Amino acid sequence: METSRSEITDLLSRQKAYFADQKTKDLSFRIEQLVKLKAAIKKHEGKITEALALDLHKSELEAYSTEIGILYEEINFTLKRLKGWAKPERVRTALTHTGSKGFVIKEPFGSVLIIAPWNYPFQLALSPLVGAIAAGNTAVIKPSELTPNVSALIKDLLGEIYTDSFIATVEGGVPTSEALLEQPFDYIFFTGSVPVGKIVMEAASKHLTPVTLELGGKSPVIVHKDANITLAAKRIVFGKFTNAGQTCIAPDYLLVHKEVKQELQEAMQEAVLEFYGENPLESTRYSKIVSKRHYDRLTGYLSDGKILFGGNRSDEDHRIEPTFLDSPDPASPVMNEEIFGPIFPVLEFTELEEAITFINGRPKPLALYLFTESREIEKEVLGRVSFGGGCVNDTLMHIATPYLPFGGVGESGMGNYHGKYSFDTFSHSKSVLKQTSRFDFSFRYPSAKNGLKLI
Ligand code: NAD
Repeated sequence: METSRSEITDLLSRQKAYFADQKTKDLSFRIEQLVKLKAAIKKHEGKITEALALDLHKSELEAYSTEIGILYEEINFTLKRLKGWAKPERVRTALTHTGSKGFVIKEPFGSVLIIAPWNYPFQLALSPLVGAIAAGNTAVIKPSELTPNVSALIKDLLGEIYTDSFIATVEGGVPTSEALLEQPFDYIFFTGSVPVGKIVMEAASKHLTPVTLELGGKSPVIVHKDANITLAAKRIVFGKFTNAGQTCIAPDYLLVHKEVKQELQEAMQEAVLEFYGENPLESTRYSKIVSKRHYDRLTGYLSDGKILFGGNRSDEDHRIEPTFLDSPDPASPVMNEEIFGPIFPVLEFTELEEAITFINGRPKPLALYLFTESREIEKEVLGRVSFGGGCVNDTLMHIATPYLPFGGVGESGMGNYHGKYSFDTFSHSKSVLKQTSRFDFSFRYPSAKNGLKLI
């Protein structure tokens, strides 16, 4: 199901022509398209849930809270504010520019390419699309080939409401993605792994196409001895095992103060039992691993440390129990590759400094989670560790508010989106200085007798 180069070239030239027609710049057009998108998601809620269950064994609750509901929130938030965001913004001018007016016009880039991953295959394809439409672009979406049911559904759903000269879905795997990346898009929004992010950036450089890279990496959790341990345990288990750990901002590994390690570990075990029952492999609330390749990669990590809890798996359904690994060697694969699955290394520290040094010695994480009741410790960690975004005394929840920008830093990505940040990401800020014709200062011209000294 790859899409040919000629089909892609033809599609992009039709999108460029559509954009050149100026239709997408009209605010009421954009609003109408977002309203249509929301209605189509509503209409197909059942099918979306079904496709997510087929591809990832996602429960209905998880499908709604992490894929569907979050999109309604994003669309509603945008619809309410879009008029204000799209207005040209008046800015002050310098004294040297007396008589002139400065303003910033938000203009769409043109035709944007959105490449999506498989772990939240619906939401991560459509959430950037909300920003792209709001800003007035046309878009091509390339969903992940690893979640074929969701990919087909996205194509049908968008095809039902949009002409592909405006919004198109191009299905396929690596060859299709490569063919798309050869094209002169006006913006590329990529969500996926660090190695592929590098490929995308290299391809984009050929046309100097600007990019947003939403990548991954190893997101740590620090639990200090003064934390509310029962609450920390529940919130960590929630963040780690939602979608069986296949979440870009899932806690990757745990750094816990030695004095509370045992207590936290027991509380996390209780939380696993409460959330997924005695046998998570049979639970309807627990996702499977997306493919055999990822399942084999994950089971390989099970020998990187002593199993404290869990460890059972089902080769047939590609499912692995929530598993805690005790103090794996920092040089082992599980401590150097993004885990992206339900395996949780537990390491201890005695001084906060050790935890900070450990994290700062590695690539900048996409997320960081800190559990503490101390303002001092919070200030220390937030001030000294660079990371994309995160939470104090919670996990994952920073991604679910449209008021916060979401994105990485360093190897975990560049750029951000959600809410107004999405609109800004998909808009070029065009600066304009409107000069007065009522008078003119001649001192700036080469012929001036007494040139003005600015300093
Ligand atoms: P991936 O990088 O393998 O694939 C992402 C997309 O790129 C897919 O559509 C795929 O078809 C395409 N692709 C794969 N190889 C390619 C190549 N050689 N050339 C061109 N295109 C290619 O990522 P994935 O396995 O789908 O997703 C998991 C990764 O995504 C994890 O690293 C995770 O942390 C990251 N992620 C990040 C975010 C975020 O918002 N920052 C969200 C979800 C996932």
